[in-house]
Amino acid sequence: MVKICSYCGCENQESFNFCSNCGRPLIPKEEKNLIIDYKKLIIISYVVTIIFSWGGLIFNLLFNSYGFFGIIGLFLPFYLIQSKNKSVKKHGYIQIALSLIGILLSLLLIFYI
Ligand SMILES: [Zn+2]
Repeated sequence: MVKICSYCGCENQESFNFCSNCGRPLIPKEEKNLIIDYKKLIIISYVVTIIFSWGGLIFNLLFNSYGFFGIIGLFLPFYLIQSKNKSVKKHGYIQIALSLIGILLSLLLIFYI
C-alpha cells in the first residue's frame, strides 16, 4: 500500500505522515472528504432550518395562514445532534434554538393577530 499525496500526487510509503515531495500532511482521502461533507452538511442544515422556521413566520405575515411547516426545519438539526462530532453537535443545538424561536414567533402570530 502507498499513500498518494492529495496535493501533488506523489506516491509515499504507508508509514509516512508527510509527503516526501511537497512536505504537506498525508490525510487519507476518505477522512478528508468526510470533514468537507460535515461542513457542507452544517451549512445546508442552517439554510434549510432558517428557510423553514423563519420562512413559516414570513408566510404567516404575508398570507395570514397557518404555516406550520416551520416544524420541518427541526428535522436536520435533530439529525445533527446525534453526530459523534462535537462541532456538528454544537451547530445542531444552535439550529434547534434558531428553529424554535421561529416556530414560537409563528405561533404567537397565529394566536394574537
Ligand atoms: Zn505532496
